[in-house]
Amino acid sequence: MIRSVVIVGGGTAGWMTASYLKAAFDDRLDVTLVESPQVRRIGVGEATFSTVRHFFDYLGLDEADWLPKCAGGYKLGIRFENWAGDGEHFYHPFERLRVVDGFSVADWWLALGDRSESFDRSCFITTALCEAKRSPRLLDGSLFSSGLDGSLGRSTLDEQRAQFPYAYHFDADKVAEYLAGIATKNGVRHIVDDVKHVAQDERGWITHVRTAGHGDVAGDLFVDCTGFRGLLINQTLGTAFESFEDVLPNNRAVALRVPRDEATDMNPYTTARAMNAGWMWTIPLFRRNGNGYVYSDRFISPEEAERELRQAVAPGRDDLEANHIRMRIGRNRDSWVNNCVAIGLSSAFVEPLESTGIFFIQHGIEQLVRYFPDERWDPVSIAAYNDRVAHAVEGVKEFLVLHYKSARRDDTPYWKEAKLRAMPEGLRARLDLADSRLLDEETIYPRYHGFESYSWNAMNLGLGRIPRTPAPALAHMDPANARAEFARIKAEADELVAALPSCHEYLAKIND
Ligand SMILES: Cc1cc2nc3c(=O)[nH]c(=O)nc-3n(C[C@H](O)[C@H](O)[C@H](O)COP(=O)(O)OP(=O)(O)OC[C@H]3O[C@@H](n4cnc5c(N)ncnc54)[C@H](O)[C@@H]3O)c2cc1C
Repeated sequence: MIRSVVIVGGGTAGWMTASYLKAAFDDRLDVTLVESPQVRRIGVGEATFSTVRHFFDYLGLDEADWLPKCAGGYKLGIRFENWAGDGEHFYHPFERLRVVDGFSVADWWLALGDRSESFDRSCFITTALCEAKRSPRLLDGSLFSSGLDGSLGRSTLDEQRAQFPYAYHFDADKVAEYLAGIATKNGVRHIVDDVKHVAQDERGWITHVRTAGHGDVAGDLFVDCTGFRGLLINQTLGTAFESFEDVLPNNRAVALRVPRDEATDMNPYTTARAMNAGWMWTIPLFRRNGNGYVYSDRFISPEEAERELRQAVAPGRDDLEANHIRMRIGRNRDSWVNNCVAIGLSSAFVEPLESTGIFFIQHGIEQLVRYFPDERWDPVSIAAYNDRVAHAVEGVKEFLVLHYKSARRDDTPYWKEAKLRAMPEGLRARLDLADSRLLDEETIYPRYHGFESYSWNAMNLGLGRIPRTPAPALAHMDPANARAEFARIKAEADELVAALPSCHEYLAKIND
């Protein structure tokens, strides 16, 4: 029987893991978390997926309680600026495409050929909510899409059926602190100390970690949440790390936290703006924005990237401290080796685009619970864990490479090189297909990776990768139902824009 788990690392990954394991196993499992007083958390990771609600609901946490404590805001989608050419923008929302007479509204949009309204405005209601900076909740707290409201209880990503319309933005440090409070209240032992040595037995299995001031901490299972350094999984166990730098350009980021005037409106979306040598994020929290420039240091220096970032988001605020981050892009060949499981940046990281880091953490934790070991350490279960984690990351990798391949930019050396760069096997065939027809669940990356076909199509169409011809069948079909659906989408969007409060107004109320 596995009785004790030792987690090393107290960032988002460490505290999400600790609080979740306690929620799952309660007192039947001892959980200890060791975190360094000196090594800072990475301090970024503030935008999420809509499915993160499975995590918070599993822990029984109420959004109205935790969101204000974590300076949180709403994310209805991502606004991509300048990726399809200077001055252009489109949204990738959390909204599935409706289906009319067996074809998605995106197929109908292509067939009807009316380009006076963009794809995202015609096919999604969320676009209008983003443009009007609306909250997804009414002032009485109810969700605009009432059938989707309410706790999902102790459910997992596997059980996601409906598309929930929003995700969160939050302060990464505050979330870690909040979850630390929950976890320690529920019995997680918290040791603030540096791990100086990781001890192994003759088979290479970890027996204990030696701390600077708290002696040896022994356990049955060890979870490496030490971030990019991978203290246990890489430095101790020597697990091979597979870099993605052959297919993805960015290896650094510089982040800046910028206070925002409380009285100003706030965006209910993440912004990802294409830059000369990468892209820039803006994540609106309740009282500040998180900003960052993600770039390749082969095309711009850290100093120049910081200068451009400051100029764009905080001119005149030289007092704000920039956080320069070197990114390790790729994944461990195996994230579970012997009695050590890596979760968080120690396991894999693709890049900040599309905010997938916390999703990987949630997915990794859920799979750990699913394949939780006993004293036999069943190699088949461990292989199944590694297979699922690897596919989630590989699917995201393909999806993110698509962003660079489909982007309509080749105006700087960085963007020119992005077009020439290698592509993951499989993506080329998928992009060839996308030039003929829209992708569907059968033709996107075939294993679970958190994105559905609507996301792949939203990105391709938003970026201007349009199939050469619409689906021929639609030329033989009566478009009346499709036209009625487009009218309904517009009417619903107008109605919601009129009924919903602004994102700032709603959040101000729950922050009272
Ligand atoms: C630029 C950038 C932007 C990102 N944006 C997003 C986003 O918008 N959305 C998203 O979902 N994800 C994002 N991510 C990913 C996200 O930041 C991480 O997934 C998340 O913060 C988890 O980090 P972590 O806990 O694995 O590591 P860290 O935050 O680095 O934590 C490591 C922990 O290990 C401890 N530690 C290290 N060494 C020792 C030692 N010897 N002894 C004891 N403790 C030790 C440290 O003290 C710390 O507590 C982003 C990442 C980057 C790099």
